[in-house]
Amino acid sequence: MDLIPNDSHNQALVKDTHPAEWRNPLPTGRYNLVVVGAGTAGLVSAAGAAGLGAKVALIERHLLGGDCLNYGCVPSKALIRAARSAAEVARAGDFGVQVPPGSRVNFAAVMERMRRLRAGISPHDSAERFRQLGVDVYFGDARFVGPTAIEVAGQRLEFARGVIATGARAADPGIPGLAELGYLSNETVFSLTDLPRRLLVLGAGPIGCELAQTFRRFGSEVHLIQRGPKILPREDADAAAIIQRRFELEGLGMHLGVKVLRAEETESSKRLVGERDGRPWSLEGDAILVGVGRMANVEGLNLEAAGVRFDANGVHVDDRLRTSNSRIYAAGDICSTYKFTHAADAMARIVLQNALFFGRKRVSSLVIPWCTYTEPEVAHVGLTEPEAAKRGLAVDTFTVALDEVDRAILDGETHGFARVHVYKGTDRIAGATIVGTHAGEMMGEITLAMTRRLGLGAIAANIHSYPTQAEAIKKLGDLYQRTRLTPRVAAILRTILRWRR
Ligand SMILES: Cc1cc2nc3c(=O)[nH]c(=O)nc-3n(C[C@H](O)[C@H](O)[C@H](O)COP(=O)(O)OP(=O)(O)OC[C@H]3O[C@@H](n4cnc5c(N)ncnc54)[C@H](O)[C@@H]3O)c2cc1C
Repeated sequence: MDLIPNDSHNQALVKDTHPAEWRNPLPTGRYNLVVVGAGTAGLVSAAGAAGLGAKVALIERHLLGGDCLNYGCVPSKALIRAARSAAEVARAGDFGVQVPPGSRVNFAAVMERMRRLRAGISPHDSAERFRQLGVDVYFGDARFVGPTAIEVAGQRLEFARGVIATGARAADPGIPGLAELGYLSNETVFSLTDLPRRLLVLGAGPIGCELAQTFRRFGSEVHLIQRGPKILPREDADAAAIIQRRFELEGLGMHLGVKVLRAEETESSKRLVGERDGRPWSLEGDAILVGVGRMANVEGLNLEAAGVRFDANGVHVDDRLRTSNSRIYAAGDICSTYKFTHAADAMARIVLQNALFFGRKRVSSLVIPWCTYTEPEVAHVGLTEPEAAKRGLAVDTFTVALDEVDRAILDGETHGFARVHVYKGTDRIAGATIVGTHAGEMMGEITLAMTRRLGLGAIAANIHSYPTQAEAIKKLGDLYQRTRLTPRVAAILRTILRWRR
């Protein structure tokens, strides 16, 4: 199992997540639970079931930890942190701090730090740890051979319940010539040893945006190419506009509304050719990074043999995460539109209860926030205004701009806002969007309020330390409280105050 470069950090990572000397156990009877795929969803399912005393097998074909540890959240956030440092240095003058000219990013050192931190986290997901938890860890390609049986590395495992947690991978954009030309995806970009001088990023969703800003901050000339008219298509238009403006200020080339028709090699670079607004468009770079969506890992599982229905978007599940085979469940990216680690974790917990203990937990009851870790961050939970309208739900919307928040002013981080939608005439929260440096952290309070059915009134009563950017959330509560001061209530209050003079 080679990772590039083959240095001591990557060797340590592989020693944890796919040890060369590993011998698969010999199955001894039927398992309570067989879990296929050892990303977040699989690891949480397996560890949870073993902890409850179940006989559990976990099958992984590549590296334990899946995308999050190896090719996703962990390496990307390590690089984002380094990029933030570079950006801080670049704008130090704004704060009256003089940095001697000539500061530069040492890309090799940045990548070495990422590999070191990733390897430092990997013992948590290691084969040895799972063996000690009582899980039978098998390496190999899993393939169903019946409704309650699966094969891996020549062995047949029988199970009472199964969990499919095989995740997703970078979707192929299907651009003629691109495969032959070669491109980077999330599986290869974290193995780069040299900083690309010119990087073309295809796709302006969360992964494309995070990595485009990161590589720009490292010093690459970066162009972000998007088929649609806006970046971060799932986010509110004004949230996406703030990020786009920031990208432009940082010198990213923005190419929206571009249809890429082919990729070709020139003498010294890679070229994308297409059209924009009906006119020819082309761009050259040294490397192309693709982030145009995720494709479910359904191939090779022989799901037909298990009677599990699926399509190109993944495995079909009901609200209790049960597949069309009532003994087999699914969790994580393989079956969800919420392709996030915390969503995979939450779904695995539902599967544990439903598959092993007659639970009736529903995935639709989860309140799942998400965050894109650009600077500023964009965090969201629940409904957007258009989604509410589509469902025929009337909402009241409150927005606080960060330039009204002292801490954001003092930090020089005023580009952003906190917005919450409440069901009309109530303080019950339907959804929220925050754009700001700490948006992901701030969203926790609103998510808790939604989960525990606390309204904006409760948030207004919650005391926030001054000065914090989270005061924006408190101010949302205050805005709501002011709407309760109807002319009638105001008249009553005036009368009381007259009496008490
Ligand atoms: C660049 C990037 C950044 C991200 N950043 C974040 C973030 O900041 N926050 C966040 O919440 N989410 C983030 N994500 C998403 C997150 O990584 C995924 O949502 C999460 O990893 C899903 O977990 P999973 O268990 O469903 O699948 P995966 O992690 O994909 O794991 C599936 C596992 O199944 C294995 N497998 C597949 N087929 C078979 C088979 N036939 N036999 C045996 N094994 C098989 C695979 O090898 C893999 O290890 C990011 C993703 C990317 C790509």
